[in-house]
Amino acid sequence: MAIRVYNTLTRQKEEFRPLREGEVRMYVCGPTVYDYPHLGHARTYIAFDVIRRYLEHRGYTVLMVMNFTDIDDKIIKRANETGEDPKELAERFLRIFLEDMEALKVKPADVYPRVTEHMDDIIEFVKKLQEKGYAYEGSDGVYFEVRKFREYGKLSKIRLEDLVKGARVEPGEGKKNPEDFALWKKAKPGEPKWESPWGEGRPGWHIECSTMSSKYLGESFDIHGGGNDLIFPHHENEIAQSEACFGHEWVRYWLHTGFVMVDGEKMSKSLGNFVTVRELLQRYSPEVIRLFVLQRHYRSPLDYTEEGLMHAKNNLERLYNTLENIRVAMEKAEIAFRWEKPEFEAYEAIRNARKKFYDAMDDDFNTAEALRALFEVSNAVNRYLTLVERPKESILRKALEFFRTAGEVFGLFEDYFREEKASNEEALIKLLVEVRAQLRKERKFELADKIRAELRNLGIQLEDTPEGTVWKRIKV
Ligand code: AMP
Ligand code: ZN
Repeated sequence: MAIRVYNTLTRQKEEFRPLREGEVRMYVCGPTVYDYPHLGHARTYIAFDVIRRYLEHRGYTVLMVMNFTDIDDKIIKRANETGEDPKELAERFLRIFLEDMEALKVKPADVYPRVTEHMDDIIEFVKKLQEKGYAYEGSDGVYFEVRKFREYGKLSKIRLEDLVKGARVEPGEGKKNPEDFALWKKAKPGEPKWESPWGEGRPGWHIECSTMSSKYLGESFDIHGGGNDLIFPHHENEIAQSEACFGHEWVRYWLHTGFVMVDGEKMSKSLGNFVTVRELLQRYSPEVIRLFVLQRHYRSPLDYTEEGLMHAKNNLERLYNTLENIRVAMEKAEIAFRWEKPEFEAYEAIRNARKKFYDAMDDDFNTAEALRALFEVSNAVNRYLTLVERPKESILRKALEFFRTAGEVFGLFEDYFREEKASNEEALIKLLVEVRAQLRKERKFELADKIRAELRNLGIQLEDTPEGTVWKRIKV
């Protein structure tokens, strides 16, 4: 079955067909780094992380780009308040963002282009827009002339006439029309600045995304994402700049996440109603936060409540209990020479749940529904284990495989499966130690020494003690 995605551009679900076979090129607007990331950011980036993981799971090579806005008005303002250098402030919060995302098990982007490292590219882009007649220089900067781009408003469905109504050019602004937006801002005294054909200054916000996405993903690519608040003006302006510059359609599918809400309002830095990722991580594990986020569809608003998080915590515990039950049951499980009713039933439940999982994820990445499939398997296995004396290994493996797949896509159960791998490795080492002891008993020293040497090369050191051989990991 094909994947279907809701495209903000067309306001409907469409079959997902990437421009190049087998590859998905995707850009997600990154943060402005001047403060700690909050749950709203976490929601958006976890949502796109799962979209990316699912596309990878479905066999696509995903090239993922996310920018860092490391210079802009908000950063300068905050730096003035704290007395810090804007560059240092941005650097500090950029690192904090990366750390928080890693803690939340969000897979890193392939490249994180930073505005301050792409000034030349940005200036080139603005120059091209000027050459093509879409941009003009005003007293305080270079502006994009919105009314020259005929399709302006196609993403947000905002009409230029409505935009212009009641709006005016503020005194001191160097633009021709109220709807025009800045591509380059001339530096005011004391502000960070870069050389350009229009004098010293810095880029506007929207131009960085047009420039840096096309640098890495080409002049047209598959997915562009961000939170709902970016549809207008940010993404609308990005489209205007890019399509004016390239002369053709730029992005195929526009995906937007719903807000994290607090008491009916958007969680945001400016309202001060936010909870930082760091605060949350002191109370909840990363996987609880992921489950909390993924239990809602990515386009729906998500209410932040402690009850919601507690609920996610309980749900995660239920799933881990099932995994633990499977692990224990595995020890007494047997090969199946015959199936009885419980096996047929358990198999049927797992098969249905797998289908439900894929159908849900194919349907615009409906993680809320896909998670239900995980609980169905969980219930089915637990029921199966109450019904049988000796469980069949194949049934448990089927359930485990499903947990592993869903876990990879959702970014859950990582430690469980890592531990499983580690314990396999330990069992193998133990086996080799026993074989070596037997070889020594048989005076086959050459082979025994070979095992010891080879293990050492792999970072496992054996030590013969009066109580027998022990092993430990060493750095090789
Ligand atoms: P910012 O650093 O404010 O530019 O935001 C970075 C990303 O986080 C953008 O894609 C925003 O849309 C998203 N974002 C900010 N606040 C929220 C929220 N309350 N819920 C969901 N996403 C948010
Ligand atoms: Zn952007």
